[in-house]
Amino acid sequence: MDCIFCKIANGEIPSQKVYEDDKILAFKDLAPQAPVHILIIPKEHIKWAYDITEENSTVIAHIFAKIPEIAKSQGLKNGFRIINNCGDDACQSVHHIHFHLLGGEKMSESFA
Ligand code: AMP
Ligand code: ZN
Repeated sequence: MDCIFCKIANGEIPSQKVYEDDKILAFKDLAPQAPVHILIIPKEHIKWAYDITEENSTVIAHIFAKIPEIAKSQGLKNGFRIINNCGDDACQSVHHIHFHLLGGEKMSESFA
């Protein structure tokens, strides 16, 4: 499958990794939108949040279980924001589910 995040997960495309285990990977976003901007992905290809199921949600839960550790490792001691863009209305540009971890400055209250 021609998926850029699958290629990052299997090492075909380099990334600046900040956390990795057998199920998930966290790496720096190429075009950061905050002083800290990390992407957290499951290694397994899940296209988007529409495809989360009871079966594959264990890896999504695992991502959330690791978020505190990843956030602290990036020096985020005053809060952070987690964003998932799903589909065209949300401007999802890479069709391998990912969670943006943003922080390092005071952010606006707006989501849209
Ligand atoms: P989204 O718009 O939610 O699909 O987010 C995709 C994100 O992936 C964007 O913030 C891009 O900057 C980021 N991105 C795309 N290609 C790479 C890459 N090779 N390494 C790191 N981040 C990337
Ligand atoms: Zn993929």
